[in-house]
Amino acid sequence: MEQDYYQVLGVNKGASSDEIKKAYRKMAMQFHPDRNPGNKEAEQTFKKAAEAYSVLSDADKKRRYDQYGLEGLKGTDARGYGSFEDIFDAFGDIFGGGSIFEDFFGGSGGRGKTARRGASLKCDIELDFKEVATGVEKKIELTKRETCEVCRGTGAKEGTSPTTCPYCRGKGQVQQSQGFFSLRTTCPKCHGNGKVIESPCAKCGGAGRYPKRSTISVQIPAGVEDGMRLRLTGQGESGESGAPPGDLYCDVHIKPHQIFKRQGDDILCEVPITLAQAALGCTVDVPTLLGNVVQVKIPKGTQNNEIVPLRGEGFISLQGHAKGSLLVQVVVEVPTKMTSRQEELLREFAEIEKKNVSPRQKKFFDKMKNIF
Ligand SMILES: [Zn+2]
Ligand SMILES: [Zn+2]
Repeated sequence: MEQDYYQVLGVNKGASSDEIKKAYRKMAMQFHPDRNPGNKEAEQTFKKAAEAYSVLSDADKKRRYDQYGLEGLKGTDARGYGSFEDIFDAFGDIFGGGSIFEDFFGGSGGRGKTARRGASLKCDIELDFKEVATGVEKKIELTKRETCEVCRGTGAKEGTSPTTCPYCRGKGQVQQSQGFFSLRTTCPKCHGNGKVIESPCAKCGGAGRYPKRSTISVQIPAGVEDGMRLRLTGQGESGESGAPPGDLYCDVHIKPHQIFKRQGDDILCEVPITLAQAALGCTVDVPTLLGNVVQVKIPKGTQNNEIVPLRGEGFISLQGHAKGSLLVQVVVEVPTKMTSRQEELLREFAEIEKKNVSPRQKKFFDKMKNIF
């Protein structure tokens, strides 16, 4: 495993522990086995990243590694991970219990006495160009844990309430003495809550929350860009026993359009015209974002790839109220099949051209003369 741990995570040697953590989270998200089922390569990358992070996130191991490289890690428990369970065990705080979405964004992760904030969720939204142009309301269906309405999140059966944990007397932690040592650990009976439920709520089984199917409407602003992430505060899962809910993150994907290409707030549209149309000028029908057709004047002598902008026919800018343009790009098509009459005319045209060389060609020939 001769590989540089900094390189594995894509950070500089001087990276702060925050930067290292961020880089690892990003990689773990991307190569997480849940997201890449059956992909061996992703699995390897994921394990590698976990190994690198296990060293670089530990001040002592990091110092030894910085000083002596892999040699310096001999005798420590730094090693490759055999299974995903190992990784989740080692980085429980980052993965928040094994699910990639749980606590990944919230960053609460607080165990012990504080009730956990609801998990943040992620969804994907696909839009077409027209929806981006106008803005749109999208309905998303998803299953998320919500506060149980029967016990109002306490987890206790109707008419009862959670009682103080007899094992830790409500402290959430217990002290164990072993010889000279005294060890404080989370109470095994109440798992740090300080309260226990004697008769659990029948609806949620004592969890205080249960998965519900819900529909969330998401308002997508006009001009949104591909890859943008919208955050819906508080629309994630409900928190434990009254803790705040998580957020819902919506990743925006924009479907490619058959004839339009997006360039920021502008839209590029290629329009083919003939040689004669380019030389003599013409009017062409061009579709707009909203499905209308406008007539665009192509001036006499338009060159290949020249752009005729239609101002205000692009996307609304997310930043302000300005609108982009529809850029009509002219593509001059040289005829490949001609009738004999067409060819005859073109030959005649070429005859005249011999006497009147076009300005561009003249420049070229002038330059050629200078070369020799
Ligand atoms: Zn309940
Ligand atoms: Zn307890």
